[in-house]
Amino acid sequence: MSHDPNCLFCKIIQGQIPSKKVYEDDDILAFHDIHPWAPVHFLLIPKRHITSMAELQPSDAAVMGQMAVLVPRLMKELGVTNGFRTVINTGADGGQEVFHLHMHAIGGPRPWLKG
Ligand code: 5GP
Ligand code: ZN
Repeated sequence: MSHDPNCLFCKIIQGQIPSKKVYEDDDILAFHDIHPWAPVHFLLIPKRHITSMAELQPSDAAVMGQMAVLVPRLMKELGVTNGFRTVINTGADGGQEVFHLHMHAIGGPRPWLKG
């Protein structure tokens, strides 16, 4: 698995920085966002370091699809029954702050802090 030693989320994957895990398999990690916008807010990341959506290759289609399919399953497990939002910020103008591709999964009863 290729990690970037300077990447925050690669450090989380490797257990160098703690996180509250929601789900993990060989290719994907999901963990609660440290600054949640809503009652439920977790991030899904590929374990392989991909900087952003702008760098996606055709060979990344499977892991992106697996992340998308996991969202409803994990939301259900976390008790979210009334809808959710998924967001992928890409690059500077897209508002991306951590440059390891991640999908925000946000849900739970409103009001939310953001979004
Ligand atoms: P972006 O703005 O890049 O789409 O989102 C980055 C997200 O990562 C933010 O929602 C931020 O709260 C979250 N985040 C940043 N640092 C950490 C951390 O150390 N642990 C966790 N769990 N989330 C983090
Ligand atoms: Zn990384």
